[in-house]
Amino acid sequence: MQVDVVIIGAGAAGLMCAATAGYRGRRVLVLDHARKAGQKILMSGGGRCNFTNLNSTPNQFLSANPRFCISALKRYPPQAFLELVERHGIEHVEKAAGQLFCAGKAKDIVDMLLTECEWAGAEVQMKTAVKALEAIDGGYRVTTADDTISADSVVIATGGLSIPTMGATPFGYEIARQFGLEVLPTRAGLVPFTLHPDLKERLAPLAGMSIPVAATAGGMRFEEPLLFTHRGLSGPAMLQISSFWQPGEPLVIDLLPGRDVAADLTERRAARPQGTVLQYLDDHLPRRLGRVLCDWHGWSRPLQEYPQSGLQAVAEALQQWTIHPAGTEGYRTAEVTLGGVDTRELSSQTMEAQRQPGLFFIGEVVDVTGHLGGHNFQWAWASGVAAGQSV
Ligand code: FAD
Repeated sequence: MQVDVVIIGAGAAGLMCAATAGYRGRRVLVLDHARKAGQKILMSGGGRCNFTNLNSTPNQFLSANPRFCISALKRYPPQAFLELVERHGIEHVEKAAGQLFCAGKAKDIVDMLLTECEWAGAEVQMKTAVKALEAIDGGYRVTTADDTISADSVVIATGGLSIPTMGATPFGYEIARQFGLEVLPTRAGLVPFTLHPDLKERLAPLAGMSIPVAATAGGMRFEEPLLFTHRGLSGPAMLQISSFWQPGEPLVIDLLPGRDVAADLTERRAARPQGTVLQYLDDHLPRRLGRVLCDWHGWSRPLQEYPQSGLQAVAEALQQWTIHPAGTEGYRTAEVTLGGVDTRELSSQTMEAQRQPGLFFIGEVVDVTGHLGGHNFQWAWASGVAAGQSV
């Protein structure tokens, strides 16, 4: 079989690339080993797919080369994807500032991409594992269990390592290495933290509670909700900061962001000397959390018995709560994989490997990772379009 372009991976980036190349008149074949296309889209955003972020800028991406993503994101901005969504009549809602979700189901986005592929004449073949990829004269040979396919260009869109049960594999990294391209170390990102047994036990009664916090690690700070879980700490604040946290480093949490707790308590002590820390916490935090904190730290005496340094210590415990996480939940639950194919190997205009003409890498397999909030899909769309316009 002979086609112009083989795309390996029918996820967000691969399908976007397929439609773009198809509309240019290229004969496109998408191969994927999974049963269904776009499985991560289906499970994304709690089943509603946070498909883009209107405020997406290159600042919301991590990469060894932070400038790499600029060109593709500029040429295919969030507005362009929103227009596509609206052309397909998909209702959407803006949740947090700029974060666009489907009003219905994430499946609407997969259906839209498959429809685009159909209109563009790009064929999507599922349940097809790729056995080998070789460079041949003037192109590539792709071997599957049932077929040998020749193509001028091959696009690797096999994503990262997160959620192996959804078909994630290291295939993309292996192909990069096979062709002598550098792959930067990978690790789980946008992932919940696990805790050492003593802290886990202490926080167990709080499982299911969500509160706004500010989390700091690795020189970054995020003000978002924290969710206590029976395994550890999750919620947007923890997911965001996990991408910047390194094993062994502390994680600092401000349980009362925006407040000056030391000043609050000093004022309270003057106004209500018999008052307690628990009464103060009850005014600002869920009751259960206040109780756990007071039991833990032994904050039971009336405020008048606290010297200024004592109030300062309470404030520090609340606003600079320093945790040493045991680790993260890893690829099992991570939303993304940090690291990957080194961007220095690729053209930022086309995603083509500079040293391997005709071989392209797009989406999550590349060392470009977005913050939480629709940025990762925006990278998948933008890098997919960049390659689709060039293959
Ligand atoms: P993928 O979408 O992962 O697609 C890769 C495809 O390649 C898959 O279909 C896979 O089956 C196929 N494949 C892999 N290996 C092989 C192989 N060896 N042979 C053949 N095919 C192969 N991002 C957001 O922006 N907003 C969200 O709301 C959001 N929510 C998320 C929720 C969860 C639970 C998870 C896990 C991720 C979420 N993300 C979200 C991240 C987002 O899903 C990814 O960044 C995005 O899907 C990456 O697109 P991709 O096309 O590069 O890879």
